[in-house]
Amino acid sequence: MSNPSLLILAGDGIGPEVMDQVQRIIGWFGDKRGLKFDVSEDLVGGAAYDKHGVPLHDDTMAKAQEVDAVLLGAVGGPKYDDLDFSVKPERGLLRLRKEMDLFANLRPAQCFDALADFSSLKTDIVSGLDIMIVRELTSGVYFGEPRGIFEEGNERVGINTQRYTESEIERGARAAFELAMKRDKRLCSMEKANVMESGILWREVVNEVAKHYPEVEVSHMYADNGAMQLVRAPKQFDVIYTDNLFGDILSDCAAMLTGSLGMLPSASLGAPMDNGRPKALYEPVHGSAPDIAGEGKANPCACVLSFAMALRYSFNEGAEADRLEAAVEKVLADGVRTGDLMQADGGTPVSTSEMGDALLAALDASL
Ligand code: NAD
Repeated sequence: MSNPSLLILAGDGIGPEVMDQVQRIIGWFGDKRGLKFDVSEDLVGGAAYDKHGVPLHDDTMAKAQEVDAVLLGAVGGPKYDDLDFSVKPERGLLRLRKEMDLFANLRPAQCFDALADFSSLKTDIVSGLDIMIVRELTSGVYFGEPRGIFEEGNERVGINTQRYTESEIERGARAAFELAMKRDKRLCSMEKANVMESGILWREVVNEVAKHYPEVEVSHMYADNGAMQLVRAPKQFDVIYTDNLFGDILSDCAAMLTGSLGMLPSASLGAPMDNGRPKALYEPVHGSAPDIAGEGKANPCACVLSFAMALRYSFNEGAEADRLEAAVEKVLADGVRTGDLMQADGGTPVSTSEMGDALLAALDASL
């Protein structure tokens, strides 16, 4: 049987720097765990624009459709700020998400004990936190028609439309329930069924899907209460399933429970392919960090943890994903820190590649 395939799109700014460390880790799993991947690399964002005049070449798009998973670094940077909207680096990423039809965005909020002090909340509220927000990514108010700014009488009116079909709600719900089955088997669906018809439909469809997952404990919460609960007692949640708009806000709120952008991974999943694996794009939440790019200061953990998500959700290697996440936990517990994780009271930060060295040593120690 051939090896699973991975397309690496390192992108711009710190993207290639953090991805170098991920490549070392991918190599480690091949050498030490017999988990070999067919890795190919290509350009996205400004790097693709520089070579091809577009932020994603058609050939790269075609490759992304064929591989088992795509791993992306980051796109963008000041050099490209004045480009026409249609060729801005971000358009490359949006094209990938759209054409791969990645409808479920997974944003874990996990608090590593060693970093609990970084949260704006009290340590006991966040330590041990491990929640997963599943945001519907391809529909809802960001896409619904009619939309626009229109003249009405003697003033203008801005219109956006929240629109969800049953099938859109259902496919995201199935992805969320599947995740819950791999976790603590609890799912909280968030909408505003008290004031929005789309929320009523959302709740009904989630309850229908729930019948196929009798082991999962389902609850419903209005999204505004959800936001309050996230900062009051976030550990009450396991998986949260919510729409595009609420998910956008709630996932950013949850992300900050854990401290640093340099630690946050994400995954975007689509429909299963012929081999049963979902279409999948894994990427850190952070951007290209132009302020530190090229200086060897970037924290590679968010990108490394994105690869851990790939191991778990694309390749069914949950135990190896646990191993990699435990290596990150150990390195942090040992006090190894990149600059973004330094407390004000000093110490010497390690470089991006030294963080990679420490992660590889922790992986070796796990054998
Ligand atoms: P950013 O995430 O790039 O940086 C915000 C701050 O966090 C910066 O101070 C940066 O140094 C720091 N930071 C981010 N990641 C870090 C890491 N791994 N290690 C250490 N520090 C880190 O966001 P921004 O500054 O708003 O945007 C910069 C560029 O990135 C823009 O062109 C923006 O459009 C693009 N962007 C891309 C993505 C993406 O590729 N998915 C996401 C957000 C922003």
